[in-house]
Amino acid sequence: SIPLGYFGGIGRAARDGILIKGSNFLDALSSASIVAFDKTETLTKGVFKVTRIETRNGFTEEEILKFAALAEVHSNHPIAKAIREAYGKEINETQVKEHEEIAGHGVRAKIDGIEVMVGNDRLLHKFSVEHDTCHVKGTVAHVVVNGKYAGYIVISDEIKEDALETIKELKKLGVKKIIMVTGDNKDVAAEIARHLNLDGFYAELLPEDKVKVIKELEKGKAPNEKIVFVGDGINDAPVLAVADIGVAMGALGSDAAIETADVVIMDDKLARLRGKKHLGVTCPMEST
Ligand code: ADP
Ligand code: MG
Repeated sequence: SIPLGYFGGIGRAARDGILIKGSNFLDALSSASIVAFDKTETLTKGVFKVTRIETRNGFTEEEILKFAALAEVHSNHPIAKAIREAYGKEINETQVKEHEEIAGHGVRAKIDGIEVMVGNDRLLHKFSVEHDTCHVKGTVAHVVVNGKYAGYIVISDEIKEDALETIKELKKLGVKKIIMVTGDNKDVAAEIARHLNLDGFYAELLPEDKVKVIKELEKGKAPNEKIVFVGDGINDAPVLAVADIGVAMGALGSDAAIETADVVIMDDKLARLRGKKHLGVTCPMEST
């Protein structure tokens, strides 16, 4: 990546909420062949809401929501925030012990001595939890209490208002392929891909899988072609680093993003990628 000293965030682009490092990537932006987007908080708002709770094995909705909210007390994942919000009550953190975040899977914690796990199908698989839910539509957080399947919480997110327009614009600008990479399940990914007319997606990825996908794409491209990755600055820092051009979004105050990304969009507006020339990133060098 480009040394921080070249930080070109002065002038017009900076005023527009975009920071650009160096100038060699500007040619790259205009020869972008593939743009890969992260899903959560990049294409979608990342404001998850609990829409439904299903119970199993004698548990009640109240019970699993409480167990889940307590287990998620220390997580910053948008799913965790949605669950805590749906629970709505004050959480006594001293009840929660041995909290552990399992990347790409969910969380695990001890609540008053009871082991609680909250997460996706992959988590159920990892811990061989017997369950009867095969195909639930939407983003799902399963709840497991002392190894027993207690039910699941369905959570929904919304596509950003400016996502469809931005993707159309990128296509018009000559980007050959626009894809999405996500840790979420295939159904959710397919639904969003269909909605946004994407050329493809990779779902159920662990954070390190996203890096592998970008590396594969880098291998398969022509020498003059460039791969752009757009993601959030915190979780996606390793992916931002391997793409020809890493664009970090919603990066206000994130040092990780500013260090690893080539382009930093300070707020959450995808439309900042659109524009006249280089993928719409206003170049501060143009006027100098
Ligand atoms: P993405 O940003 O694409 O959603 P993540 O790696 O953040 O990818 O998460 C991948 C998946 O792992 C999520 O969709 C969710 O199913 C599960 N997951 C991760 N963290 C949590 C959590 N704290 N609670 C419940 N599920 C989680
Ligand atoms: Mg993410």
